[in-house]
Amino acid sequence: MNYSKILNQIELELKEFPNNGKVASYIPELSKVDPEKFGIHLYCISGSNHSFGNSTERFSIQSISKVFGLTLAMQLLGDSLWKRMDVEPSGNAYNSLFQLERENGIPRNPFINSGALVISDILISEYENPKDEILKFVRRISGKPTIDFDEKVAQSEKQHGHRNTALANLMKSFGNIKNEINQVLDVYFYQCSLAMSCEELAKAFMLYANEGTLLESNEQLLQPIKVQRINALMQTCGFYDEAGEFAFRVGLPGKSGVGGGIVAVHPEKYSAAVWSPKLNQKGNSLLGMEALERLTTKTGLSIF
Ligand code: GLU
Repeated sequence: MNYSKILNQIELELKEFPNNGKVASYIPELSKVDPEKFGIHLYCISGSNHSFGNSTERFSIQSISKVFGLTLAMQLLGDSLWKRMDVEPSGNAYNSLFQLERENGIPRNPFINSGALVISDILISEYENPKDEILKFVRRISGKPTIDFDEKVAQSEKQHGHRNTALANLMKSFGNIKNEINQVLDVYFYQCSLAMSCEELAKAFMLYANEGTLLESNEQLLQPIKVQRINALMQTCGFYDEAGEFAFRVGLPGKSGVGGGIVAVHPEKYSAAVWSPKLNQKGNSLLGMEALERLTTKTGLSIF
């Protein structure tokens, strides 16, 4: 497969594409990004790398980080994790309160905000320093010791995170948050503020494309059954209220974030990360989805 040629074609075609999405502004710091940034990085299991555009520039990965939090919690708790949250698509906005009220404070899945807040709560209970553990894990799987939280984004979100505060309080009232609300929000906001490039994300997500084994060192970090489950959750719950659309158009498990990043994995073939900050109405990168759809169409490779 000539991936470089395919990426060149996609880059050329999308120059003409009308990108009328909107940059997320509900976290004020995110609205400062240049809306025209666009990059992609493809990391193949053979070890070859292909990219174009702003693929080495770091951006706010936001909800993509929920995959890392989930991975750590699955390692720590095993199956008892699923007593605290479900594995069903929510069919609602990622920060919706009313479903959580109806379902007694049990989040539908780990990729909506309520689920990720429960994960932060678990990391606080299990680790002495959860933020350090998140950083350690991400640096390890991406092979980049310089990856860090973006302090400004974390603070900006803290100042405007009223809905996340409400979600955490609601779950606390049902007994599904064990630690102090402020502590839980702090870990969650810092996790969301992680800044990474497409190149670094593609490398980190190779863990999920390669059955839990780090490609370069051949070290088994995660059991294959856990990877299967994480990929299943990405497939069914990774794109807000648009997981069906992503499966239909792209056909790969993946996760997006309101910073405009999307990472998708083709198990045993590749991981691909794309970044374009303008979002569609459902909160997914408009150009990012288009680029990935063209990638799986032109390669003829989707998991279906
Ligand atoms: N930190 C963001 C929030 O909680 C994450 C949103 C996202 O990327 O889905 O609102």
